[in-house]
Amino acid sequence: MPDPRSILHVDLDAFYVAVERLRDPSLVGKPVVVGADPRGGRGRGVVAAASYEARVFGIHSAMPIGEAYRRCPHGVYVAGHRDLYARAARAVRRVFAQFTPAVEPVSIDEAYLDLTGTERLHGPPARTAERIRSAIVENTRLPVSMGLGTTKTIAKIASDLAKPEGFLEVLPGREAVFLARLPLRRLPGVGPATRQRLAKYNLKTVGDLARLDQDILAGILGERGSSFLASATGDGGRAVAAREHPKSVSRECTFDTDTTDLEFCEAMLLYLSERACHDLRTQRLTARTVTLKLRHHDFTTVVRSTTMPSPTDSDRTVATTARELFRAACGPRPRVRLLGVGLSNLIVEVPQLELFASSRALAWDRLTAPLDRLRERYGFEAVRSGSTLRLRNPNQLDD
Ligand SMILES: [Mg+2]
Repeated sequence: MPDPRSILHVDLDAFYVAVERLRDPSLVGKPVVVGADPRGGRGRGVVAAASYEARVFGIHSAMPIGEAYRRCPHGVYVAGHRDLYARAARAVRRVFAQFTPAVEPVSIDEAYLDLTGTERLHGPPARTAERIRSAIVENTRLPVSMGLGTTKTIAKIASDLAKPEGFLEVLPGREAVFLARLPLRRLPGVGPATRQRLAKYNLKTVGDLARLDQDILAGILGERGSSFLASATGDGGRAVAAREHPKSVSRECTFDTDTTDLEFCEAMLLYLSERACHDLRTQRLTARTVTLKLRHHDFTTVVRSTTMPSPTDSDRTVATTARELFRAACGPRPRVRLLGVGLSNLIVEVPQLELFASSRALAWDRLTAPLDRLRERYGFEAVRSGSTLRLRNPNQLDD
């Protein structure tokens, strides 16, 4: 048996809300909702984050903002400051880098750190975890929860249980005992539908699942059964190694009012393409498939994709493709509610210069590396290109 691994899951508590409270301390202790303008319950976007005080009212992220307002009209609704979030996340990543090179980000406020083998340099992993917390607090003043275990699944469950501002370590060999009595909702990937199906067989805890024969579980849940079993017995979740990359990257925006302005739509597509490509490049990925999402005023939604002969991370190539898809899909007199640009079929590699790219497109691509660096330092909105300048408030992007 190889030595057990030490995986630390670090998760900032109510991240957007915490950043907003640093900006405006009067928000401390109040039910705070970060997201679109609720407009007295008639707002059209979604909740990006909710404080613990707001969650008491059943508000959670991705809930329609109007629904949040109905549940908690006296809450404080703030539009959100993406650049502040990005800056705080960068400060946290710099702390991680002082302790281990093996960091796997999960989202802007969450990451796995592999502390295996750092003992000689930094001491026992639990002590390293506390030093990481101190450094995060010192550099950002943000509250954070952490879980330490031998697998990613264990570490993640531990940090969830430790929230807020806690730390929980599951010692090697104690995984099964730790998991046995936990309710199934604690297992990542087990949603309400799966829980309902399992409840019919009186399976309620992770331990119930772990005691089950693999074939029986597969009979109940199908092929996914075995991966739940791996989680349930504590060996689920691969070690943090070469970073796993996401399956897709996408950006979308719900408009404040439905629009019939095609030029505005195309400017928004360029902007969304720039943001999605920026995400792609910061992860050193390229994409072969571009997807357009178009929601009409009556909520009918059109999704169209094109797969390109060679992968790209170029704003212009993606924007051109998205625009073509839009023109083909929008119909004669569209009233557009939402637009989105998605990139999938992701590949880790350097894009090739396209043979037939126009010289203007190439000049643009030579610009993007310095642009990305500027944006890394000063935030995305520091630089705006051509037609996206006419977008009034692109910060209204949905998350
Ligand atoms: Mg979090």
